[in-house]
Amino acid sequence: MNFIAAQDTIVAISTPQGLGAIGMIRISGPDAVAIADRVFSKSIGDARGYTLHFGQILKESRVLDEVLLTVFRGPRSFTREDVVEISFHGSSYILREALDLFVMHGARLATAGEFTQRAYLNGAMDLAQAEAVADLIASSSAQAHHLAMQQMRGGISRELQTLRGRLLDFTALLELELDFGEEDVEFADRKQFDDLLVEMIGRIAELIRSFSFGNAIKEGVPTAIVGRPNAGKSTLLNQLLQDNRAIVSAVPGTTRDSIEERLIIDGIEFRLQDTAGIRDTQDAIEAEGVQRSIGLAQKASLVIYLYDPQEHTADAIQSAIAELGLPSATKVLPVANKADLYTGPSEGLNISAKTGEHIAALKEAMVTAVRSYWEGSSQPEANIISNARHLQALRQTYESLLAAREGLQSGISGDLVAIDIRDALYALGSITGEISTEEVLGVIFGKFCIGK
Ligand code: GDP
Repeated sequence: MNFIAAQDTIVAISTPQGLGAIGMIRISGPDAVAIADRVFSKSIGDARGYTLHFGQILKESRVLDEVLLTVFRGPRSFTREDVVEISFHGSSYILREALDLFVMHGARLATAGEFTQRAYLNGAMDLAQAEAVADLIASSSAQAHHLAMQQMRGGISRELQTLRGRLLDFTALLELELDFGEEDVEFADRKQFDDLLVEMIGRIAELIRSFSFGNAIKEGVPTAIVGRPNAGKSTLLNQLLQDNRAIVSAVPGTTRDSIEERLIIDGIEFRLQDTAGIRDTQDAIEAEGVQRSIGLAQKASLVIYLYDPQEHTADAIQSAIAELGLPSATKVLPVANKADLYTGPSEGLNISAKTGEHIAALKEAMVTAVRSYWEGSSQPEANIISNARHLQALRQTYESLLAAREGLQSGISGDLVAIDIRDALYALGSITGEISTEEVLGVIFGKFCIGK
């Protein structure tokens, strides 16, 4: 990629949300050290990288704050430029004043994601890694953190680059054939080419499938608790959350709105939706309650189907679940409730939402259900897609590779196959940013907060 090193120096508060005891300001660019030097009580103009300086920030010869200032010298910094990071006391007044001061001395306010964008443009990381920086900052559970960290450390990038590199080698041979035109030469072994395409198509299909898991981990697993009125759904929600968020009542149909609560089990975040008591008319048949839950259940990744074993046999539950018409990927856990009152089915989960009996087993089953999303993969520990942009690009890659393979098999001319392969290479390259446009970058980094 062609790019020209930034000429200007940018500044931003790096701790914009909920200022703590410390507020950080970051300056990056060719004049970062010179600008800081002008307002710092000690001379740091010649300071080496990785040095820490204690002193005062002066504004019109008044001490604005006592700070710790860190100097980084490019390329050994986050952005690969000269960077100064200053720890202030976390006062919004001080930080605002300081920001003004640096702007007055020649820095420009950074736009959203501009530090990370510079890191990307300067080759410190590729695009998928840059996106992972935002995911990392947003991560709220151990698993989401793990996923972001893996992506930030280049896991997915390495795999995609390897795949892309192998495809590129073949394409080079294919294009060489085209150069020979009429002469009937074949440099690219068709059998090997087909093997490669089959392998790539398989792996990319797997990555595409991993998105539902990756996205659930990143955003929280949408989990619907469904069942007939009075099955104990609200009670279960409360039991899981250990507080009285939902209103529990012995009168069927008292929970008016659906409720969403977040719960972390074993590092996985579940977004629990209580669809309790959703039926509007008094003489509505009980199945109506289930009917109304269908919408939520169909959007969920995990459905907990709660029932009262006194009312239903396990078989009846299977057909009730079938009636929900859930997408095939949805995981469903049938759970018999009120184990303190009745003996439930001999198999499966028997809990008491009221007493908390076997709630631990239910939680374990929830975690297992989510994990099973990726344990079916040929590379369970391997990379998982959690970014919608990557998903889109992988789908394009997949389509193009399929078209290329069909073309090869039906013996269409090499130049047409080459077009499909080029499309695939382009789509793959767009994930890591080997191929990118200003527009795409604007969309990606525009979603970042200022200061990242
Ligand atoms: P929902 O309509 O499915 O949300 O059901 P609720 O959570 O409102 O519960 C309906 C009734 O069943 C309430 O009186 C609860 O106290 C009771 N209940 C729920 N779970 C249990 C349980 O495990 N054991 C017993 N004995 N009662 C329960």
